[in-house]
Amino acid sequence: DTVTSRLAGFHKLPMEERLAQIGRMFRLSEEELEQLRGVGTLDPVLANQMIENAVGTFSLPLGLGLNLNVNGRDYIVPMAVEEPSVVAAVSFASKIVRESGGFVAEADESMMIGQVQVSNYGDPIKATENILDAKEQILALANSFHPAMVARGGGARDVEVRLLPAPEGPRGEPLLIVHILIDTQEAMGANLINTVAEGVAPLIEQVTGGRVYLRILSNLADRRLARATCRIPLPMLADFDLPGEEIAEGIAQASRFAEADPYRAATHNKGVMNGIDAVAIATGQDWRSIEAGAHAFACRGGQYRPLSTWYLEEGHLVGRIELPLALGTVGGPIKVHPGVQVALKLMRVSGVRELSMVFAAVGLAQNFAALRALGSVGIQKGHMAMHARCVAVTAGARGGDVEKVANLLVKAGHVKVEKAREILASLLP
Ligand code: NDP
Repeated sequence: DTVTSRLAGFHKLPMEERLAQIGRMFRLSEEELEQLRGVGTLDPVLANQMIENAVGTFSLPLGLGLNLNVNGRDYIVPMAVEEPSVVAAVSFASKIVRESGGFVAEADESMMIGQVQVSNYGDPIKATENILDAKEQILALANSFHPAMVARGGGARDVEVRLLPAPEGPRGEPLLIVHILIDTQEAMGANLINTVAEGVAPLIEQVTGGRVYLRILSNLADRRLARATCRIPLPMLADFDLPGEEIAEGIAQASRFAEADPYRAATHNKGVMNGIDAVAIATGQDWRSIEAGAHAFACRGGQYRPLSTWYLEEGHLVGRIELPLALGTVGGPIKVHPGVQVALKLMRVSGVRELSMVFAAVGLAQNFAALRALGSVGIQKGHMAMHARCVAVTAGARGGDVEKVANLLVKAGHVKVEKAREILASLLP
């Protein structure tokens, strides 16, 4: 394997040298390098085909998360994100984890849920029985809409019926919701599930005598979970002049806080999603769907909880994450957007399940980096250095002045645009 994610000194290289190094390692063509550089990543003609009322394209910085090792394999992770610190944090955390043996991850099959809402069906028990009796017929009809998917080994697998208590109101009928479970293989699957849900609706109406309203996928993809874990020996956590035990205790305390308190859990999970969304955007995923799924899953027990937890065990800090990840390596914009193609080439995954495992590891790494700082010295110290650059640019600094102004801002302990303007003016001859 010629690819390593351990690229010492990468962050100190000029951008062109970073690109050259990646280009050599992945044998990228000049055209692919151009896609990474972002010059002309998305042709306006394509943009116009992708959405309505297009007037142009919109860019984000693309960074590479380094040091990631999952199940013994190295990954360089493309991340599209506007927030400073995200890429550095994931790379930093992954470095500690790789030195502790890397992440161990797994992912479920691509099992997605299509929902069909039935009403006016009469007796709920009878209607449920009728649907379940027709299961084979429903599955066969579902699969008739996607013969290629079935040939690939995917397709509709099961039918479930859920009776939900009626919301308050005059119509007392419980809600009857049919779930069709569909293995969407390498696709996220929204479109193909929706086709199935709409396609089987007349048959469901026929067997229940009821009336179907909504027919659409569920973004709570809880049959398509990915999990990652890591185990870090305590001495490896020592930092900020603090022993590893103390850093680990801070992280475990942060985890307890998030488990007990939704106010904290929301912020905890935002940190997880900082990493996952950035990779999702770079690799052409529907990140709203990932977000919706993650937060609904976080709430599954009735209280909003953290997607990841941390605890101490036999001289180690152990971290775990589990979340739904409805990703695709085909479908949607994935084969359309040339920048996404290069990003996926860098990920070099064999398929969507491996992609999900890397996503889960990225989420856990991102979370680790945040909690490590939060549970000890706080995040502002590290954050402000990055934020200062942004403030310097806002104040009008360009070129070499950005770093100079940023450093002086941090030194002054006062990272504000006004202060930056003052410093900038004092730099002028
Ligand atoms: P597509 O509609 O592009 O469908 C993917 C298609 O790729 C499959 O139907 C299949 O067609 C083909 N394909 C080729 N090779 C494979 C393979 N190995 N495994 C699986 N499929 C393969 O994309 P999706 O159905 O994945 O839908 C995703 C899009 O839907 C996203 O853009 C999302 O934004 C959008 N969306 C999301 C919604 C939501 O989240 N609530 C709602 C509606 C849309 P064939 O079998 O014919 O070859």
